[in-house]
Amino acid sequence: MIEFSHVSKEYSNGVKGLDDVTLHIGQGEFVAIIGLSGAGKSTLLRSINRMHEITAGTLQVNGTDVASLNGKKLRSFRRGIGMIFQSFHLVGRTTVIKNVLMSKVPAMPFWRVVPGIFTKEEKIDALEALDKVGILEKAYMRADQLSGGQQQRVALARTLAQHPEIILADEPVAALDPVTARQVMGDFAKINKELNITILLNIHHVELALAYAERIIGIRSGKIVFDGKASSVDKAVLAGIYGEEMPEGVEELYEAV
Ligand code: ADP
Repeated sequence: MIEFSHVSKEYSNGVKGLDDVTLHIGQGEFVAIIGLSGAGKSTLLRSINRMHEITAGTLQVNGTDVASLNGKKLRSFRRGIGMIFQSFHLVGRTTVIKNVLMSKVPAMPFWRVVPGIFTKEEKIDALEALDKVGILEKAYMRADQLSGGQQQRVALARTLAQHPEIILADEPVAALDPVTARQVMGDFAKINKELNITILLNIHHVELALAYAERIIGIRSGKIVFDGKASSVDKAVLAGIYGEEMPEGVEELYEAV
């Protein structure tokens, strides 16, 4: 469903964010992208919904050349892809359910957007999304009264209410404590299994990537240096991805694998 063919991305300052990436990701996969800071993880992820424009090669999603999309077609394409960020991107001063309902706005006619009129079906759909991530009882609380993990779950519910085929998550657990980070990774795994949504996430906690994702893509200086099952990641693989500069956490894991 997601096909990178010899994709490169060169930023205007000459830095290559991606360097000749060829990759196939199938429907329903749960993929974690790992690598050092600056390796190109975010560029890879954000090329898929064209938050970043690639500069060489072709990138297709469900057979559509992403670079060919414009205007209405690009907006509709993006609605099929949920995006989760490290910093949740919620409106803190409004309720949880309103935050989830925001996902409906891009598809709504203008006359309904201004007064914020949502149908009963849309509200039920939003409540169901909150239920899927286990925070239904928080629906009418203000978003900024929730913990970080709960806020990330709201962001996940907002994305689910979009009914995406793909979820892209850029460092979704980086701002969370270790226990909460595990819970949120568990949510991603559950959503992947139960709803068959393709999930791609960037993560610098390698141990969490290995514990929850099925497939690991290791990236270094814009190139894919590993692509395989989480269970096949060993010392040599970690050394290939991180080299001499193994960050904290990876070094301990390196000793353990
Ligand atoms: P990661 O997500 O692995 O930390 P990024 O994809 O953010 O890495 O960055 C890959 C490379 O591209 C880095 O060298 C980074 O400095 C560079 N880069 C990212 N965004 C820009 C930009 N907007 N302009 C110039 N260089 C950028």
